[in-house]
Amino acid sequence: MTIHANSLETYMFPCLTDNYGFLLHDTEKDLTATVDTPDVNAIEKALAIKNWKLTHILNTHHHWDHAGGNLELKQNTGCLIAGPLAEASMIPGIDIELHEGDIFQFGRFNARVYDTPGHTSGHIVYHFESEHIAFVGDTLFAMGCGRLFEGTPEQMWHSLNKIMKWPDETRLYCAHEYTQANARFALTVEPHNRDLYIRAREVEKIRAAGEPTIPTTLVLEKKTNPFLRLHSRDIRRTINMEKSSDLDVFTKIRNLKNAF
Ligand code: ZN
Ligand code: FE
Repeated sequence: MTIHANSLETYMFPCLTDNYGFLLHDTEKDLTATVDTPDVNAIEKALAIKNWKLTHILNTHHHWDHAGGNLELKQNTGCLIAGPLAEASMIPGIDIELHEGDIFQFGRFNARVYDTPGHTSGHIVYHFESEHIAFVGDTLFAMGCGRLFEGTPEQMWHSLNKIMKWPDETRLYCAHEYTQANARFALTVEPHNRDLYIRAREVEKIRAAGEPTIPTTLVLEKKTNPFLRLHSRDIRRTINMEKSSDLDVFTKIRNLKNAF
């Protein structure tokens, strides 16, 4: 998918089993970034299709399906690698260490960096505020959130709250196509959410046609993502936690999802 040339151009493509690759391009400055490096071959093929030359890697976290292609791409292109300060020792080839509040300047565009621990303890996300685009890695998924491999439920809940403060129209690029399974789970905890029911049916059609369900938007997530809907009486009644704290509800839903 390409957006017109005066704006930040993005190109999304599938990688591995269920990852997405993302290229960003500034035509004027002739800069190209890949968000994470899930699959060197797929990324190099995408670069060739667009006739773009890789200049930057923007890593979200250290997992192999996000940083595993760093060194090979750096060797092939001489690109610069930016990634999370808190995981710098695990990000191969890192040149620029980023953390909360940093602005990563990519040509004419600026990404504000947020620390979003939970999935990993140093995970970061990139928010291009003026473009209303964000790359959220494995922190937030369509109707879901990342598994807690290194962080606590409290950390993840706090991370998701940062994302929820962004403008509703923000387009969220998640790193995996987990949407169908997430929708099925979401319906089990919030069975009377009409927006969720409608979206789940749409997602089934989109996936049956082999199309991506990414990017999503923050407004759509607020309506359908159970991890952003801890206030929902339907959810609280369904899991029998009507009087519990938001954090306890979050923890419960995350545990139920792990077992789903
Ligand atoms: Zn991951
Ligand atoms: Fe991942």
